[in-house]
Formats: sequence, structure tokens, C-alpha cells
Amino acid sequence: MPEGPSIVILKEEVQRFTGQPVLAVEGNAKVELEFLQWKKEHVLKAHWPAHTKPICQRCNLPFIKKHTGLKKRRSFFCPNCQTIYA
Ligand SMILES: [Zn+2]
Repeated sequence: MPEGPSIVILKEEVQRFTGQPVLAVEGNAKVELEFLQWKKEHVLKAHWPAHTKPICQRCNLPFIKKHTGLKKRRSFFCPNCQTIYA
């Protein structure tokens, strides 16, 4: 799908921030919020050692995947080297 002009301008505007973590997202245009949120998650994901990875890099054991907490968010944890506080 070709990109509309607004998203192209936005990409050029955020180009200078490439590689820097996005610490806050604000604004009132939906597309800007979604794009920045995506960029924020993309930057963060590069630093997550467990999220979506199948094997614990410390123990070489498979992660357990569970939906945890009140909001039932996806969690990944190693049954060997991580302590469960519950
Ligand atoms: Zn482990």
C-alpha cells in the first residue's frame, strides 16, 4: 500500500531521532501517535532479552509464556533463573 504524504513527511521529521529511545508520546493526530508508539516499541524491543524469544539466553532453556497481571499482558519468563514474586 503506498504511503500518503502525511506519513512520508512524518518519517523525514523523525529521521534525526533514529537510534534514540522515545521517552514520551504526545499529540492529537492518531497517525502520529501510532507511528511514535510503533517507533517506541521498536526501539524498546531491541533491548528486551526475553520478550518473544523462545530460549533463555542465560540457561538455554525454553521460556514460559503466560498472560499475567490484572490486564493479562503477555509475559515471558525463565523457570530456572527468574524468581516469581506472587
Ligand atoms: Zn534462565
